[in-house]
Amino acid sequence: MRPLVILGGGPAGAAAAITLARAGARPLLLERSAATQEKVCGEFLGADAAAALAGLGIDLAALGAVPVRRAIFAAGRRQGRFDLPFAAWSLPRLVLDEALLALAEASGAEVRRGVAVTAAAWGDGGWRLRLGDGRVEAAGAVVLATGKHELRGLARDAAGGSVGLKLALEGVPIGDAIAVLACAGGYAGLQPRAGGGANLCLALPAGTPGLAAAARDPAALLALVAGGSAVARDLLRDAVAVWARPLAVAAVPYGYIAPAESGVFRVGDQAAVIPSLCGDGIAMALGSGRLAAQAILAGQGAAMHQAGWARHVQPGMRVARAMDVALARAPGAVALAAGWLPGMARWAARRTRLGDPRA
Ligand SMILES: Cc1cc2nc3c(=O)[nH]c(=O)nc-3n(C[C@H](O)[C@H](O)[C@H](O)COP(=O)(O)OP(=O)(O)OC[C@H]3O[C@@H](n4cnc5c(N)ncnc54)[C@H](O)[C@@H]3O)c2cc1C
Repeated sequence: MRPLVILGGGPAGAAAAITLARAGARPLLLERSAATQEKVCGEFLGADAAAALAGLGIDLAALGAVPVRRAIFAAGRRQGRFDLPFAAWSLPRLVLDEALLALAEASGAEVRRGVAVTAAAWGDGGWRLRLGDGRVEAAGAVVLATGKHELRGLARDAAGGSVGLKLALEGVPIGDAIAVLACAGGYAGLQPRAGGGANLCLALPAGTPGLAAAARDPAALLALVAGGSAVARDLLRDAVAVWARPLAVAAVPYGYIAPAESGVFRVGDQAAVIPSLCGDGIAMALGSGRLAAQAILAGQGAAMHQAGWARHVQPGMRVARAMDVALARAPGAVALAAGWLPGMARWAARRTRLGDPRA
């Protein structure tokens, strides 16, 4: 039986693997993709994500990340601009996830790519993990890091119906800003993409008018976002989609926080899902992965670890959810407030960074 298996090789699984391997454990990490994939993600890395990555030994500038220094909130004819209260970066997930998995391997973890886990079941003092090729792996402890994807036998009890979309663009004069752009049903994020161009990303409630067309057709997605504000119209005027269609993910359960349960260490999106653009899921993935690994090394039970993580994220999650509701229902007021009261906007930006509390 394997003492420890990590399911999923995104930032959460990789951070857990690196921490465990550096402490002398030799975890097995199973990642279903044979090669790193594009993921629906704004690719914004705030101060706590940057600090967590630096702590692991990842140099964002060396990987080609571009700095993000300013924020713009726009709705209708209104807009508010402020300087971010911390250094932030943009880095494609293709680059970040690859660097993290390579580091996990170099640190001594056994990383198997192209291996999907299709189900997990507890019995006879251990986990039985069914693999995509029909084989079964036995494990003493499991770190569940499958992100947005549910695993049979360990699915989250999470309600939620947001649909996430992402589109790489050329011809967008975004500079070093992240723009939060109101649009029908919610808001989108636009920021520079390392290597040139820009990244447009949004999550809207399922059933939002125009969403189905936007998920299929870049022109429909650009029209949906450009229709929400004068700033978006200007920024997207000469935008050219790099991909034939947007990347999409369904059923994102914003606000979810995993309850304390024994037997499995949930990390990343399996532990908590913060509304996009109101908080940094990657920082939370890195922080929860590292903390779960430390709990395992200290012999702490999964339930105690999970309860601690829930206590840590709850206050910031409340602020992020309030921001999410305000952006969806009163985006003009948020844009005005961001411009008039940049101190408040910076306070909210800081309050919703929920990485590793000990880092
Ligand atoms: C619209 C949107 C925009 C976002 N923008 C940002 C942003 O700008 N900044 C930010 O910090 N966060 C953002 N996030 C959140 C961020 O993307 C996630 O919080 C983060 O990716 C979570 O990391 P993770 O490791 O838990 O999961 P993931 O990154 O999803 O990784 C999970 C891994 O598990 C693998 N896997 C899944 N199922 C299996 C299986 N059965 N067997 C084996 N492997 C499996 C997958 O292939 C994947 O590699 C955004 C999210 C959305 C929806």
